[in-house]
Amino acid sequence: QIFMPLNFLGFVYREIRGSLANIENLFSLLDKAPKVSDKLGSPDLQVSKGNIRFTQVAFHYRPDRPILEDLSFSISPGEKVAVVGESGAGKSTIVKLLFRFYDVTQGSIQIDGQDISEVNQQSLRKAIGIVPQDTVLFNDSILENVRYGRPDASDQEVQQAIDLAHLRSFINSLPDGENTQVGERGLKLSGGEKQRVAIARTILKRPPILVFDEATSSLDSQSEKAILDALKEISQGHTSLVIAHRLSTIVDADKIVVLDEGRVIEQGSHQTLLDQHGAYKKLWDTQQNKRT
Ligand code: ATP
Repeated sequence: QIFMPLNFLGFVYREIRGSLANIENLFSLLDKAPKVSDKLGSPDLQVSKGNIRFTQVAFHYRPDRPILEDLSFSISPGEKVAVVGESGAGKSTIVKLLFRFYDVTQGSIQIDGQDISEVNQQSLRKAIGIVPQDTVLFNDSILENVRYGRPDASDQEVQQAIDLAHLRSFINSLPDGENTQVGERGLKLSGGEKQRVAIARTILKRPPILVFDEATSSLDSQSEKAILDALKEISQGHTSLVIAHRLSTIVDADKIVVLDEGRVIEQGSHQTLLDQHGAYKKLWDTQQNKRT
């Protein structure tokens, strides 16, 4: 008699946890609840190649303060594109628009030729895996925290994701290994360790499009290298958008888009931009000087 309700509670718990994996993305990006609603009967997004195109996008949170203006850039299938710029330039806003937490004020965002405002949000968010700046960890074991990425993943898949996200040696150093409790009431993880948990979750989710929102907090060089290696693993063959604060993260990007006050002022590869001796070169030199 006791077993049935307990079993049912277990089911409810797993269901809620499954939805939390997506809600987490939402909370980490959003300051407020979304106001955007789907058009009636809007179809699913069909991702074939993973081409992303921002065309003359303008956006403001408040009409008296434009945030993005005439923003155009594209990411070809499988390419890694990085967005850089001073703090407040509008980098994270681009991610919020791609997730359609807000609608653009002007212009359009297309994925494989479909305007994202014409498809339903559930299918859009399913197609995009995000490694947010700050990952929410639940009061559960580190193993279960990784599994949130895809609750029905096999043990083998979870272990593989741990390896690919370069979490193995960290987990081995914990008192109870992968069964160590983390989160609010357990062990607190550093920013870099949390980002690697998010990377492992994303590896399990296997989305066709990937967004990496680099944490602003500074990382020790070992943690930074582990994240870089893990990032390389997941962006392999995936269309990826990287919001970068440390330019060292994105020297290998296919294209770097430099934002200033919501406009694209330069775009090209790391070397091309250095050779231009413009804003990117200035940012690069400033960061190099800080490192030495
Ligand atoms: P950082 O490098 O510091 O993370 P960023 O380039 O990602 O900055 P955004 O977070 O996109 O910049 O913010 C761009 C501008 O929009 C900032 O001036 C910010 O204050 C403003 N802004 C961001 N979110 C909101 C919001 N929900 N409501 C009003 N203004 C906002």
